[in-house]
Amino acid sequence: MDFSYTPEQEKFRQELRGWLEKTSAEVFKDGAESLGQSTASLLDVRDDGRWRQLLEYHRRLHEAGYIALHWPKEWGGGGAGLVEQAIYQDEVLRLGLPLYGANQLAIDRIGPTVMLMGTEAQKKRFLKPMLTGEEIWCQGYSEPNAGSDLAGLQTRAVLEGDSFVVNGQKVWTSLAHRSHWQVLLVRTDPNAPKHKGISYLLADMRSPGVTVRPLVQITGEAGFNEVFYDNVRVPKENLVGELNQGWQVSIATLMFERVSGGTRHPVERTINELVELSKKLDFDGIPAHRHPYVRQRLAQFVAESRCLRLSRYRSLTSQLKGKVPGPESSFGKLFATELNLRVAMFADEMLGAYGGLEHGSSHAVEGGRWAHRALAARGLTIAAGSSEIQHNIIGERVLKLPKG
Ligand SMILES: Cc1cc2nc3c(=O)[nH]c(=O)nc-3n(C[C@H](O)[C@H](O)[C@H](O)COP(=O)(O)OP(=O)(O)OC[C@H]3O[C@@H](n4cnc5c(N)ncnc54)[C@H](O)[C@@H]3O)c2cc1C
Repeated sequence: MDFSYTPEQEKFRQELRGWLEKTSAEVFKDGAESLGQSTASLLDVRDDGRWRQLLEYHRRLHEAGYIALHWPKEWGGGGAGLVEQAIYQDEVLRLGLPLYGANQLAIDRIGPTVMLMGTEAQKKRFLKPMLTGEEIWCQGYSEPNAGSDLAGLQTRAVLEGDSFVVNGQKVWTSLAHRSHWQVLLVRTDPNAPKHKGISYLLADMRSPGVTVRPLVQITGEAGFNEVFYDNVRVPKENLVGELNQGWQVSIATLMFERVSGGTRHPVERTINELVELSKKLDFDGIPAHRHPYVRQRLAQFVAESRCLRLSRYRSLTSQLKGKVPGPESSFGKLFATELNLRVAMFADEMLGAYGGLEHGSSHAVEGGRWAHRALAARGLTIAAGSSEIQHNIIGERVLKLPKG
């Protein structure tokens, strides 16, 4: 395998790196901590200043033409090849920044789904404001009784004249409190087998009958929400794909996640920061970075993160040869988020009693970011399909193991 870039790709990488470093330093004056950790679900609902920074960063990404390199030029994207997309991903994660500004879900998968399965009118109406950041999107899939078993969802939509009338509840909806629009999976045929009676709607979050209630996470932030629908009217023309075929549309959405590689967590950066931390602390009476146990753990983390990177390159190579992305997305998601959790737990172990001190405490190490990471890391092993579900997928679809 040859991992070197062509001169054009190297030029693109250098320009991008320079732009990202300059822009992020200008916009996130207090650092980009936690912004790239997930789908912005770790953003605090109460932190208006942070949100404004993210919108400004989004605006600049769009202005510079970097916001949606993977979208076709026809719809305002960069029309970039897979290698440029991979370079973009590497460089953004290197700085711990969010991949798609303030509109992660829209740019990553909702927009591409609308391009693939939406009507011309939907493409014209919705795609551009996703890019500019004028309309922020969230994803209403999970419900109190439908998470891993998503097809068990119960939020009902009944067609009445020109609109669907929606009643029910979603939960864990990241960014609902900042969103103008939502992708909403609803049950439109309660008598059909559970995968066959679901439809995929584009719902205006400002419609009468929508109530958003923030949920406070273990970190003390409130980045995701419960959303209630009380006779909410969604125009018929906002149905994507066929009526009762929403499961297929949502699978298409998931495929975009697969294409974009699975491993999108800045865990390499976190490991580098952990190595730096080990140079500042004592462990067991000696400088931590000289302690054999610490060195062994750090070396293991670095080796594992290199494996993750090589796995991503392997996936990229096979996509460049025209192959459909394989199991790497489940593997990558599982491995990256579990590695991130182990890294966060080890930081906690190295910090000892200081590990629990959070932002605001005068003795908190590095502003309490390690305490925050230790609390936040577990959520990432659950979001977008829990580790157990990823194990099931790998066992059943990759290793072809018999179902228990
Ligand atoms: C940070 C974060 C952000 C999120 N953002 C969104 C969002 O924006 N939109 C959205 O719709 N949802 C979102 N979610 C919800 C997420 O998709 C669900 O939490 C996830 O799918 C798990 O569903 P659940 O919470 O209902 O747990 P359950 O499905 O009830 O699972 C409970 C436990 O049982 C295990 N389990 C379940 N089924 C199996 C099985 N078949 N085999 C083995 N073990 C199993 C699970 O792994 C888990 O440990 C978010 C979650 C988090 C943590």
